[in-house]
Parts: sequence; C-alpha cells; structure tokens
Amino acid sequence: MSRFLSTKYSELEPYTPGEQPKNTKYIKLNTNESPFKPSAFAQQLAIESVKNMQLYCDPECTELVETLSKLYGVDKDEILFTNGSDEILNFAFMAFCDERHPAVFPDITYGFYSVFAELNGVPYTEIPLNEDFSINMEDYLGINKTIFLANPNAPTGIALPQDVIGQIVRSNPDSIVVIDEAYVDFGADSSVNLIHKYDNLLVTQTFSKSRSMAGARLGFGIGNKEIINDLIRIKYSTNPYNVNRMTQAAGIGALADEKYTQNNLNTIIKTRDYTKNELIRLGFKLTDSSANFLFASHPKISGERLYLELKSRGILVRHFSNPRICDYNRISIGTLGQMQALIENIEKILKDSEETV
Ligand code: PMP
Repeated sequence: MSRFLSTKYSELEPYTPGEQPKNTKYIKLNTNESPFKPSAFAQQLAIESVKNMQLYCDPECTELVETLSKLYGVDKDEILFTNGSDEILNFAFMAFCDERHPAVFPDITYGFYSVFAELNGVPYTEIPLNEDFSINMEDYLGINKTIFLANPNAPTGIALPQDVIGQIVRSNPDSIVVIDEAYVDFGADSSVNLIHKYDNLLVTQTFSKSRSMAGARLGFGIGNKEIINDLIRIKYSTNPYNVNRMTQAAGIGALADEKYTQNNLNTIIKTRDYTKNELIRLGFKLTDSSANFLFASHPKISGERLYLELKSRGILVRHFSNPRICDYNRISIGTLGQMQALIENIEKILKDSEETV
C-alpha cells in the first residue's frame, strides 16, 4: 500500500477471484464458467464488430436492450446492461445503500457483496443461514434494509421459490430487494415477472454462465423504470461506455441463438445429475443445487485436503476458508468427460487416504 492511498480504502479487503491458471493443463471446475464455447453466431458478430473498434460503443446498448425486452417481456426502460453483473451489483450498492438504507445479505453468499459494501462505505449485516444453508424467510420480512439475495445462492446452489421472494419484497415496500440471478437458468424460478408487481425489486442476470460469455463481461438488471434510471445515473457518472462494442455484438448474437443456450443448459443439468449421483455414491454430502455447480463435503477428507489433492492431479475446484464452509468444495459442472475424470480422481484420492489412515 502506498502512502497516497485514501484512508477510506486502507482497510478494504478485495474480492479474491477463483484461480485463473495461464496454462490449460488444468480441468477448470473452479469459477462456474460454461464448458461450452459461445454460440458461433455470437462469435461471428463479435469478430465483425472489431472492424469498427475506432468508434466508441453505443452507451445505451440499444439493440441489446430491444432484443432482451422482447425475449423477457419487459419494457426497454426496465433494462440496464453492464460490464458483467458484478458492475450492476456494485451500482446497486452505490445507489440504494447508505446509513438510512443499510445492506443485508446472508452470511454464506456471494463474497463480493461484503466487498461492495465496504468499498462504498455502507453499513451491512450478514444474516446467518440455517444449519442446512437454507434461508430463513422470517429473517428478511419487514426489515426495511436493502436486501441482496442470490437465487440460487452461491456457493450452496440452493434456490428460493418465487412465492418466498414475493413475500420478502412485499414486506419491505420502502426498501430495494436485489435478486441476483447469475445462476437462475440452471433450474431456479426467475423473479423477472415480479418487477411489474413490485416497484422495489431489482433482478440481475449475467451472460457469463448460461451463455458462455464470462470473458466478454456482460450482465444486466431488470426492474421498475425509476430504479433503472437511478442506476443509469450511476453508470453515466462512472463509465458511460461500460459495455464495449465487441461484447454488445456478441450479446446480440447469443440472444439470437437461444436454442444453442437451451441445449447447453440441458446438457449441463444432465451432467450435474450424473455428478451428483456419483458423489453421493462416494459418500459425499451435497446441498440441493439448482446451479451449474455442486457444493460437496465428505466425512473422511477435509475440504482443503481434497482441493489440494485434486489440484495436484490437475483438477481445480473452489475451496473457501470461511470456517462455516471449509469442509466443502464448490465444483463447477464441466463436460461429461471432465466430470468423469473428476470422479475417477476423487475415487483414487479417497482410496489412498483410507490406506494412509
Ligand atoms: N453473482 C454471483 C452469485 C456470482 O457467483 C457471480 C460470478 N462470480 C456474479 C454475480 C458475477 O458474475 P459476472 O460479473 O460475471 O456477471
């Protein structure tokens, strides 16, 4: 830290992203990316757009907004695109949280929420999940704080039904509720259609997972047009050109190729079921994940040891040091072949660790 850093950031503990190894020798199951390439049409449009890179991109993402509004059945002024959904989440912390509107989220959830709260100097509380990592709805009723809930939650993958979300949103009419649907396409119910019922709901989604575009950085929020306008104020006060030309083009291509996305989703869900059954066969305990990852612990091997053993064999999964979840690993769903390799390696690791006991 230099002596010039503003004191307001001196205590900041930045978010730690999952490892991104520079070589391809790893089977990468640690950052919930799609194992599939982006749609060919998305690639083609992105390549064509490069030719006009000398020009700034469209700050309003006009074509993307039009396409998404038709696909999702919402108005154009109910949508805002951002540089990944991380950016719109940060905007929401900036726009809707302060001393009068403290932030609240579960103790086990996406690690960036507490970083955004710290970054923006907003007070926040973390509400403990139940023992089984489920959310206790009562904890969120009528609390009048800005609520952030990932649905499905990360890293547990556990989804909330829409009626629970509806009750939480309804009981906090003077506070914003942000539902982070980064993983919703893998089997949870989206709350997008609730935005016409509640003016205090913001739903965020991403192209990083189901649409295979993590490296392009494209996310969006859907909500009442006044909320979206507030977020637009923040966008135009930070970076109006936050979604670059190539990414906008790729996003338009991906939305035109929803069949491809749907096929990939079906494959990932099938592979998740296969992996889940195999892990159960090997004695793992798992949460009921509706996402493109599993969250698993084993009674005979610590989470950290399994993570390190897998890494030494060329397979990366995500381990968290938080004591509440340090027995677990979060395992992204890759191709069937990758998951078969994972299972084979885990079987060997478990056998070896039994022999050394
Ligand atoms: N929300 C959750 C719960 C996530 O796990 C992630 C991915 N790390 C994000 C949001 C942000 O994803 P992106 O910025 O790639 O859209």
